[in-house]
Amino acid sequence: MKQHRKRTSRVRNRDWETQHEQSFSHDLKKHLRTNTPIVHVAAAQSSDKVPDDFEPNGLVVSHSKKWAFVWWNDKEHLCRISDALIERDSTILAAGDEVLVEQIEDGEPTVRAVKPRRTKLSRHAIEDSRVSEQVIAANVDLLLIIVAAAKPAFKPGLVDRYLICAEAGGVEPILCINKMDLVEGAPGDVDIYRALGVPVILTSCSDGRGVEELRTRLLGKIAVLAGQSGVGKSSLLNVLDPGLDLATREVSTSNEKGKHTTTSSRLYRLDGDITLIDTPGVRQLGIWKVTFQELAFYFPEIAEHAAGCRFRDCTHSSEPGCAVRAGVESGDIPERRFLSYLRIRSS
Ligand code: GDP
Ligand code: ZN
Repeated sequence: MKQHRKRTSRVRNRDWETQHEQSFSHDLKKHLRTNTPIVHVAAAQSSDKVPDDFEPNGLVVSHSKKWAFVWWNDKEHLCRISDALIERDSTILAAGDEVLVEQIEDGEPTVRAVKPRRTKLSRHAIEDSRVSEQVIAANVDLLLIIVAAAKPAFKPGLVDRYLICAEAGGVEPILCINKMDLVEGAPGDVDIYRALGVPVILTSCSDGRGVEELRTRLLGKIAVLAGQSGVGKSSLLNVLDPGLDLATREVSTSNEKGKHTTTSSRLYRLDGDITLIDTPGVRQLGIWKVTFQELAFYFPEIAEHAAGCRFRDCTHSSEPGCAVRAGVESGDIPERRFLSYLRIRSS
């Protein structure tokens, strides 16, 4: 595993300071049940219990079932995960979790406790024919949605799904349209997203346009990267921090400790206080815990019109007096946003 250059932890400390008004919990069951974006995560439950108001000193980079790489003392360290943070053979930690690492004399550094999460991005997983929530990243400020203007072709439906995922996780979305050097002018959909208040940044790794704007947006934040393979995620990371050698990100799978990074989330600390989490989980993002009623809420222009529907439980598919369909007909609601809404609803 490559160790990144020594970097300042100033930004992380500032984030920890914003959490003090939140309550803490040692109740693991409650943590796993919770529906809110603020998650109460268990600390060690042994006799030498960690106090609730502990000051975290580490940031989870990646993890396997029982081991985690943690950004601790300005470097990545391989740490054992305390048994109290393991349930059903797997850790409850996620990349981005703020943790307490302790090292007793020459022993292995151990992750003892984890702070409640400010936000989380989840997907659903099917384990033993039960659906369970899998937190793919914690304490995320931004969802950086990366699409290509061409090669692969721009897919608005996918952007809508990512926007829902950001909304559901309480994370601010940013849309980055890369490979702008391959096209004349931006895709027409850009105006739709800008009208929704989503910042849109047009970039090219080939001619460097938009990269400084992207850097400014990401400064001091934790962002999760979302995007299909081939859109230029690795290229953008390398342009943002040329010192980052992504070719070395895969660790050996030949020993127990290294068995993890290829299929799980991974956090990168980039030069200049940018923290990005790359996660294969985002590529298969399902829609977690979004009910039919809530779905309209994630399409604000649809929700706004829905207030005028004749029936309060209108599904905007075939009911008479539907103000949403009227809005689509009059052009107030972009048709492809409405089609996206219907498609996601039927999934
Ligand atoms: P990832 O799978 O999302 O990480 O995508 P990569 O970063 O591996 O990029 C996929 C391919 O697109 C590579 O051949 C890159 O050289 C190319 N690429 C990435 N960004 C740009 C860009 O802005 N313009 C052009 N023309 N090609 C790009
Ligand atoms: Zn309606």
